[in-house]
Parts: sequence; C-alpha cells; structure tokens
Amino acid sequence: MVNFEQGPIRPPSEAGSLLVRVSRNCPWNRCAFCSVYKGSKFSLRAPAEVIADLDEMKEFYGDAVRTVFLQDANPLLTRPDDLIRIVEAVRERFPNAGRITAYARSHTLARRKVEDLERIRQAGLDRIHVGMESGCDAVLKLICKGVTRAEQIEGGRRAKQAGFDLSEYVMPGLGGRALTDAHAEDSAAALVEIQPDFVRLRTTAVIPGTPLFEMQEKGEFEPLTELELVKEIRGFLSGLRGLTTRLESDHILNLLMELRGDLPGDLDELIGVCDQFLNLDDRLKLKFILARRMGWTGTLKHIDTPALDREIDRIVSELKKKGVDPEEVFRELRTHMV
Ligand code: SF4
Repeated sequence: MVNFEQGPIRPPSEAGSLLVRVSRNCPWNRCAFCSVYKGSKFSLRAPAEVIADLDEMKEFYGDAVRTVFLQDANPLLTRPDDLIRIVEAVRERFPNAGRITAYARSHTLARRKVEDLERIRQAGLDRIHVGMESGCDAVLKLICKGVTRAEQIEGGRRAKQAGFDLSEYVMPGLGGRALTDAHAEDSAAALVEIQPDFVRLRTTAVIPGTPLFEMQEKGEFEPLTELELVKEIRGFLSGLRGLTTRLESDHILNLLMELRGDLPGDLDELIGVCDQFLNLDDRLKLKFILARRMGWTGTLKHIDTPALDREIDRIVSELKKKGVDPEEVFRELRTHMV
C-alpha cells in the first residue's frame, strides 16, 4: 500500500520523473482550453505533509529516482521558505536525482523577488516549465490566460536571472483563424526577449466541456486546419531568429514531431521540414495527417509505406462515402490525445 498523494499531470519531458505534489490543482483554473483541474479547488500543502509523502516515496522507490517533478500547476506560489524546505528535503532523500523541475505561472514568477527565486534555485530546483501558450495579448485575452504578454516576458526573465533552466510552452492554433498571424509573430518575439533554454510546442486541441469548445460551438473560435497549423508554425519559426534555445516537439498532439533542434543552427532545417510538408501534393498531405493522427507513423520520412497506402485509401473512401470532412476527424482525434 502506498500512502502519498500525486496530481494528474506532468510535462511530457517529465514522463520518467517522481511526481511530488506540493500544491493541489490550479490557483487560476480559468484558461479556456484547459480541462485538467476544472471543478477542483486550489490549495497549498503544508511542508510537513509533503515531507511525510517524501518519506513514503523513499521507502517505495529507494534510490531509483533519477528526476523529480513538483506538482501541480503552480507550486511556485508556495512561500519561498516553505518551498526551499521541500526542495531541500527532496535533495536529502533522493541524492541521485539529477534534476528537480516544476510548473510555474508567469503571473507568479513576475511577482516573485529575484532574490527569493535565486534562493529556491540554490536549494536545488533546477528547471521551471511555464505554459506561456502565446506571447500575443489578444490571444491571452481570448483564452483567459490571466496574464499579459509583458508579465510573460517579465516572469521568464526573472526565472532566467535567478539561474533556472527555463522551458516555455507555446500552443500553435490557440488564436484560431482570426489571430493566427499575430499569435505566431508575437509569441516568437516574446520568446526572443525571454531567451528560454527550451521552447516546446503543444498543438491546440479543443476539448469538449471547456470554454474554448463552447466558443467554437458558437462560432466565436474558428480552429485551424492541419495545413493552417503548419503554416502558422512556419511563421512562428521564422520569427525565432535571434533566439538561442532548444526547440522540442515532444507532445503527441503535434503533427510534425521532427521539429526538434538547436537554434539558431538548426532553424533553417526546421523551417524546411514545414516546407517539406506544405509542398506535398494534397493526397500525400492527407495520407500523412491521417497516419499521424491514427498513430501509425512518426515522421515525414515514413510516408512511403505501401501497406499504409491501402489502409489510408480505404479510410478516405469511407469518409467520402459518408460525406465526412476529414478535418472534423482530425480535430476529433486530437481531442483523444490529451
Ligand atoms: S492551463 Fe495551467 S494555468 Fe491555465 S487553467 Fe490549466 S493548469 Fe491552470
């Protein structure tokens, strides 16, 4: 029997990490696209309670822990002294942990003193994951992110100044059709100002039950097609000149998983990957999208598979017979990937 608490999510890059719940749920909980903590109340956990969990975890996992992720959505809201106590307790119990990471909202980071962030960093928290989602004020307002572009930049800068590894998430498609250009351009420009260590792509999926889904139903949010998403990402990448970072496409929702590389050196090659997709003829585009969304193929390199051709032809003719728009199917498949 295990007797410790863990929250529901962690970033894809923390799949192998020990999950330590420092706070419960999300203090904001109003982002229009997010379904994770809806209906759940935010609370901070007392350091003694978290440390009791760590003792249980130590019993259970022993010395096998290599990386640790502090949950839930915003453990940086914990009083700095309390968070330091928790991070030090993690370090004491899991000396083999090469990395301790946590999510944080820009809103919180932008209000934390750099000296406090430095103390937390020195205690042993190495990396902060920020869901920036967009660097465009109009998009941030649309999706009710509760944070401005200026706060996103300030929060990111403070984290960097304190010495953290900083990972920023961007959500292609989040501005819908109306804001696609501004979203791409402003997000890239904000990241150039922040200079995070990682930029991670996580394509927008409109989940039933969320405010964004309601907006889509009412026609107030027009989702991008797969083709438009790649065009937006191409525009976004083109705006990243001047940024030194690691770009990762590590979320299953992304169509082009091969968009991974070190900037600025790999930037032209990554833009070339977008062009490779955009230059495919319509049939090949459809084939690739279907194969990716069904989980049958990983990258554009695997597109020439005869067995795949037969299966895709069968599906395409079924959809045609039933008069179903393939984009609707892609959108539906994306909602199952969250
Ligand atoms: S996206 Fe993050 S900040 Fe927004 S509601 Fe979800 S957990 Fe909270």
